[in-house]
Amino acid sequence: MSSIRLDSISKSYDGEHFAVNKFSLSVADGEFMVLLGPSGCGKSTVLRMMAGLEEITAGELYFNEVFANYIGARDRGVAMVFQSGALYPNRTVRGNITFPLQMAGEKPEEANEKAHQLAGVLGIQQTLDRLPQTLSGGQRQRVAIGRAIVRQPSAFLMDEPLSNLDAAMRTELRQEIGAMTRDLGITTVYVTHDQVEALTLADRIAVMRDGRLEDVGTPAEVFDDP
Ligand code: ADP
Ligand code: ADP
Repeated sequence: MSSIRLDSISKSYDGEHFAVNKFSLSVADGEFMVLLGPSGCGKSTVLRMMAGLEEITAGELYFNEVFANYIGARDRGVAMVFQSGALYPNRTVRGNITFPLQMAGEKPEEANEKAHQLAGVLGIQQTLDRLPQTLSGGQRQRVAIGRAIVRQPSAFLMDEPLSNLDAAMRTELRQEIGAMTRDLGITTVYVTHDQVEALTLADRIAVMRDGRLEDVGTPAEVFDDP
């Protein structure tokens, strides 16, 4: 598990405009933090800088108070899930979920046991032998989540994971994501432009606008402000 601290982080893609501008935020160990704001305000950029997928132009990033700007994406111990989880099309659900474990050299029996457990948590036990293209969108996102967390990352980053799902599936998976991350006690940063998702999932919400932090607090603090 991990705390995350962003100290005045900025990102410019073109050396002129700032997609993220002096953004500071602390996420406590085990906390569920939602980054909320309109499209284009810089949420994904913040998340990708946390994941090590995007260089930080200025400012400092810390995991457990260890300076992390230059730690490679693979060595950060963070897992990320995107809008539509790109699964390996030629691997079964089991093969997708166990892939990170295989890469880490884990024994197949142990990897399969973990996949089985996680599939139970995610409600996709009956799909373990199927290929991704035979799954619903919601099932595919569950597999992507399973694959992301199977190595017990220290932090879990999600970028609009529900936005490609229909309304009913969105509600269902939202509730499951909330329950699962709390069960696991995993530090989570969740990006969305949807207020309902933010309100129902967050321990705290960081509201972004034009690359800056506009407000941060519990859902009650953020939405009941006069
Ligand atoms: P814009 O509205 O064009 O994105 P900004 O306020 O992002 O303007 O930036 C205007 C100029 O101020 C930038 O070109 C840059 O030189 C400077 N600047 C703004 N924010 C930062 C920052 N976080 N770090 C360093 N320089 C900055
Ligand atoms: P959000 O996740 O809130 O929709 P983003 O972080 O994706 O916002 O984008 C913030 C700003 O940075 C936008 O103006 C977007 O066009 C720009 N941007 C994002 N990614 C890139 C990129 N790879 N190259 C250039 N500009 C980018």
